[in-house]
Amino acid sequence: LFIGSPLAQGARVSLDRAQANYLLNVLRLKAEDAVLVFNGKDGEWKATLAVEGRKAADLVCVERTRAQSAPLDLIYAFAPLKHARLDYMVQKAVEMGAGSLQPILTRRTQSTRVNLERMRSNAIEAAEQCGILCLPEVREEIGFDKFIKGLEGDRIVVFCDEDAPVANPVEALKKAGVEGWNHAAKFAVVVGPEGGFVDQERALAAAHERCIRVSLGPRILRADTAAVAALTVVQSVLGD
Ligand code: SAM
Repeated sequence: LFIGSPLAQGARVSLDRAQANYLLNVLRLKAEDAVLVFNGKDGEWKATLAVEGRKAADLVCVERTRAQSAPLDLIYAFAPLKHARLDYMVQKAVEMGAGSLQPILTRRTQSTRVNLERMRSNAIEAAEQCGILCLPEVREEIGFDKFIKGLEGDRIVVFCDEDAPVANPVEALKKAGVEGWNHAAKFAVVVGPEGGFVDQERALAAAHERCIRVSLGPRILRADTAAVAALTVVQSVLGD
């Protein structure tokens, strides 16, 4: 369970109404039952439930069960999609290990208004479900050109492009020297909007010194499918 306050031995954390309702009425937990909690900074803690009626509850931290892990330096950059497709994309990107989520506004982006709060709550839910302890950073939307120009020169940019010559993307990463996870490595995986990238954007990405333009096969994938495919390719090489 994600908790937005510091966790330490003996710390007492009050739950909001939704969390209390989930533990007491959905999971039907009772006083003294154990719950695992994290806040993205202090590792994972076993906490016991202190119940006040059926609507309010606190948790008391008993012992640390896992040390805090560092997030991957992997930016998942994507043109925002509408509602349910964006929810899906955010959840899957977190499950696949994205350390930060960066909405990018490309020439053909149709959904330019991004609900960052909704993205955050989907990211928390995905982190809870897959048991990771670091919460992905949810970044504010930024123009595509500014995003590419602002990337460090040594960041490996996996630029997904349905117009790239069809070739094995895992081999393309290995050829560019990506092999296994090393904590100094920095990645960005970039997926475009419903209408794809324009040539000007392709050229700008190609000008980045560590850009790898990858094909995910001969079929045009929906952007949310491309997210899962691209991150699977990257993780098949990183193995993290
Ligand atoms: N119209 C569909 C939609 O609404 O999702 C397809 C959009 S596709 C043009 C969106 C993005 O997915 C592209 O800009 C690219 O980044 C990625 N993509 C889709 N198919 C791909 C492929 N075969 N290879 C590489 N990237 C692909």
